Amino acid sequence: MTGTLYRLTAHELCDAYKSGKTTPSQAVSSCLDRINAVDSKLKAFVDVWKDYAVDQAQASDDRWAKGAPKGPLDGVPIGLKDVLCTKQGFTTCCSKILRGYRSPFDATVVERLLNAGAIPVGKLNMDEFAMGSSTENSSVQVTRNPWNLRCVPGGSSGGSAAAVAADECAITLGSDTGGSIRQPAACCGCVGLKPTYGRVSRYGLVAFASSLDQIGPFTKDAHDMALVMNVISGRDPHDATSADVPVPDYTKALRADVSDLTVGLPKEYFTDALGQEMREKIEAAVKVFEKSGAKVIEVSLPHTDYAVAVYYIVCTAEASANLARFDGVRYGYRAPNAVSVEDMYHRSKSEGYGPEVQRRIMLGTYVLSSGYYDAYYLKAQKARALIRRDFTNAFQKCDVILTPTAPTPAFEIGAKTADPLEMYLSDIYTISVNLAGIPGLSIPCGLTASKLPAGLQILGKPFGEETLLRAAYTYEQKRGFTLGQPPIS
Ligand code: GLN
Repeated sequence: MTGTLYRLTAHELCDAYKSGKTTPSQAVSSCLDRINAVDSKLKAFVDVWKDYAVDQAQASDDRWAKGAPKGPLDGVPIGLKDVLCTKQGFTTCCSKILRGYRSPFDATVVERLLNAGAIPVGKLNMDEFAMGSSTENSSVQVTRNPWNLRCVPGGSSGGSAAAVAADECAITLGSDTGGSIRQPAACCGCVGLKPTYGRVSRYGLVAFASSLDQIGPFTKDAHDMALVMNVISGRDPHDATSADVPVPDYTKALRADVSDLTVGLPKEYFTDALGQEMREKIEAAVKVFEKSGAKVIEVSLPHTDYAVAVYYIVCTAEASANLARFDGVRYGYRAPNAVSVEDMYHRSKSEGYGPEVQRRIMLGTYVLSSGYYDAYYLKAQKARALIRRDFTNAFQKCDVILTPTAPTPAFEIGAKTADPLEMYLSDIYTISVNLAGIPGLSIPCGLTASKLPAGLQILGKPFGEETLLRAAYTYEQKRGFTLGQPPIS
């Protein structure tokens, strides 16, 4: 059994530990072997903590042997996006400016996972500072899609998605500012959840756009998603924006029943921008809900067209403020041989940041500058309020909204790097969700003719994660297929 232990979900692993069929040490070595076997092709990990993971697994073996696991994920191998602060190893956001940086503390989510017994096996590749949709903006390496190595894994959490899809570990964490969990989950064929803004503490998440950022998991199924959400959700005194809303037991939501749900399909999402094949996959998924007793209606999100523009004003404005701290003084890279302080700032940033990050800082500084603030930033905030109101109105008529996660399946490496705007359009279905602060989950809904995964996006009301998990679980039980194993070729 040790040979393919890496394929198991977290809940399967914990059952097997409990019954004594296997041990955390066996599972962790199985995952480390798997990483060894496939990661030179995939390049999902930027750092693997082999010795640390092996040590932690031994401690977990002892706890299970005594019948006293530390928590609900004891002995489960996990991976962490390099945007999360960890005392172990480095925290670099895959940027040259933070190369070699060691965090003095663990992010709250990391601390909570460790307290639950999870075993981090390393850090995962991402677009620099989480800016991108393909992981091609990483200063370290380009991650490949396990379903087709010529394609991108999506982004910015491409390493986190590829690692779960290729069974390098059972669970990973990513971050989602405009789609960075859901879009790569869709591209790689795993489950990805962006929780409600405030559901999960952002303490120790290196900030990109603070009013949009949220941490969330990648898993192999809805059951594991519920398990991780139980661990990472809830108020944290270190993050003033984390909500003081009680955390339910999400595993109670795992019932295959949607007969009491009304499903809304936003007409603005089913236009010509959506490829024919993707449309068919989504329509087939909607049929599964209908057959399971859900009522399906059309809804309208009239301000959808403004979402991409609004997002790229708000996120760049916030990024320009957040990234000001990397100036070569306190954090990260400092350019050598500067002749003045100003020269040092200038050169450290020019040499330390990649082109996409520089573009965003410049855009963000521009939309906030006096004379342009009213025309861009203020107007974007007003439009954001309208986008949020669209969802409030739609959710008066339905319980969940179903949409495609991305307009196309994973694209080829290099296909969109020449045109930033085309890259930005990869997120047309995910961005509004962050602007509104609501939760969104992506779940695989089939393979295209060219054998690439398609993702179904399920959106819910604020703090409606239970309903999302129930819908996802029901769909998993009733869809009548699984994606199978990615070929990694
Ligand atoms: N692709 C979007 C961007 O480039 C979203 C990124 C994210 O969610 N972190 O900003």
